[in-house]
Amino acid sequence: MRAVTWQGRHKISVETVPDPEIVNPRDAIIRVTSTAICGSDLHLYDGYIPGMRAGDIVGHEFMGEVVETGASSTLHRGQRVVVPFTISCGQCFFCEKQQYSACDNSNPSETRDVSELMMGHAMGGAFGYAHLTGGYAGGQAEYVRIPYSDVGPVVIPDGLADDDVLFLSDILPTGWQAAVNADIEPGDTVAVWGCGPVGLFTIQSALLLGAGRVIAIDHFPTRLALAKKYGAEILDYTKVDVREALAEMTGGIGPDACIDCVGMESHGFTVDNILDQVKVKLLSSTERIHALRQAILACRKGGRLSIPGVYGGFADKFPLGELMEKGLTVKSGQTHVQRYSGELLDMIQAGKFDTVSLISHHASLEDAADMYRHWHDEQDLYTKIVLKPGLKKGDISARQELQHA
Ligand SMILES: [Zn+2]
Ligand SMILES: [Zn+2]
Repeated sequence: MRAVTWQGRHKISVETVPDPEIVNPRDAIIRVTSTAICGSDLHLYDGYIPGMRAGDIVGHEFMGEVVETGASSTLHRGQRVVVPFTISCGQCFFCEKQQYSACDNSNPSETRDVSELMMGHAMGGAFGYAHLTGGYAGGQAEYVRIPYSDVGPVVIPDGLADDDVLFLSDILPTGWQAAVNADIEPGDTVAVWGCGPVGLFTIQSALLLGAGRVIAIDHFPTRLALAKKYGAEILDYTKVDVREALAEMTGGIGPDACIDCVGMESHGFTVDNILDQVKVKLLSSTERIHALRQAILACRKGGRLSIPGVYGGFADKFPLGELMEKGLTVKSGQTHVQRYSGELLDMIQAGKFDTVSLISHHASLEDAADMYRHWHDEQDLYTKIVLKPGLKKGDISARQELQHA
């Protein structure tokens, strides 16, 4: 089959690789019909994520048709499913608490030791995201093996297009959990840093959860325009002093909840993947947690801080004293996708989310290398890219209003 592979920093290529096979009775194989490139794929592209090996198949946002099932899979051939990016057994201490991304069984023994060394405890498994999370082949491919296929995949009813539901794999539940973690009370003012795909779903989720106002912060005009379309007031941080503007907009009090949807990639900090490189890396990391630092300083006293943005290691100049003195509550973490996907599918069917208008481009799997480059270099125009293995190389379509822009 054809698959998008990581070959090193800023090197993505589409290669012919062996087809996946059932290796466990709970497995299923799906034929991928749509797969998206994620902001966190840029962390791989930029070489920030430890444990990648040349030839690894990337991609953790995908859906498709079930083509083969193991004896204990609950799926059936021909079903359309969206697959959560988190791989979870459904039976361990953490899965029973619905903390699926902390699954203690999905990260196999050969990779969990280094994960445990770095984090204190081994992380759960994830598709297409390096050997610290299990080294599972990702979904930017024609076919994928789905472990624990009786737990994760969401069966999609007829009548819903791929684009309507694809983001149940990651960014929709991630935005939803970010807003849930902000403990929003009716009428709250919520500030969201970053209008990438996760930020855009966080904005929609915060309003659905009762926020009175959402203020979104970014500098890309297209992303800010989408934030506004979804109901946010917007701040361009290149044009205003964000802390002053937020204070002014909230009578000097500050937002009730602040959500960091930026993470390490744009102003994030270095992943100190190899412990002996820590000192060296920290020297160049001092200004990379800017958004998070600003969120802590802007938040009202006694407010809440939610961090869905991905960070990978140690932070320098982290305002711990301010966090404590202001009495902020902090919630963070990888998304427990399986916990939310059912209710979010219902909400999509009820028309509560706009899951489509953030998609800027559809392209073939064969065009993946070009698409990664655009996604990395042209974040204003490329707001979300969906790859379709069914398309031919060069079949690239852009959102209408972009073409006329
Ligand atoms: Zn993702
Ligand atoms: Zn588990």
